[in-house]
Amino acid sequence: MIKLDDAYDDGNIFAKILRGEMPNITLYEDDKTLAFMDIMPQAVGHCLVIPKQPAVTFLDLPDDASAAVMVTAKKVAAAVVKALDAPGFMLAQLNSSAAGQTVPHYHMHILPRHEGLELKFHAREPEDMAVLNETAEKIRAYL
Ligand code: AMP
Repeated sequence: MIKLDDAYDDGNIFAKILRGEMPNITLYEDDKTLAFMDIMPQAVGHCLVIPKQPAVTFLDLPDDASAAVMVTAKKVAAAVVKALDAPGFMLAQLNSSAAGQTVPHYHMHILPRHEGLELKFHAREPEDMAVLNETAEKIRAYL
């Protein structure tokens, strides 16, 4: 199998979230995946889906975990679209630091899009927790 990265480092922030060592604003969880709010959102409603299985990139995530992420992403994206009344959305997934990946645990971004509204910079500006919680509440209402 092609590897873009070195071995998985379980000290990364999403591994800590999965172990309950770091807080997160959870939207949805099942035995294989976790979906939560991105704390430096590029759009209102920006959230992430991660597999519970450790993997850095798409290439080293086993197919069943990859499929589980997509099933959860579909569920959560539908809720995001309804909650934010978004006419469109983006799925994005960066592989390796060369592609701009900043957290080395595989994740799928869900980004609601509205015409004429540009995305904010990637992983730059932390959002107020109260605002994130309020948005999460709206999304959870559709899950
Ligand atoms: P990437 O650059 O594709 O690896 O994306 C990592 C994403 O994780 C960025 O959009 C960050 O804003 C986001 N992020 C970083 N730390 C946290 C955290 N503790 N909780 C939620 N999202 C985070």
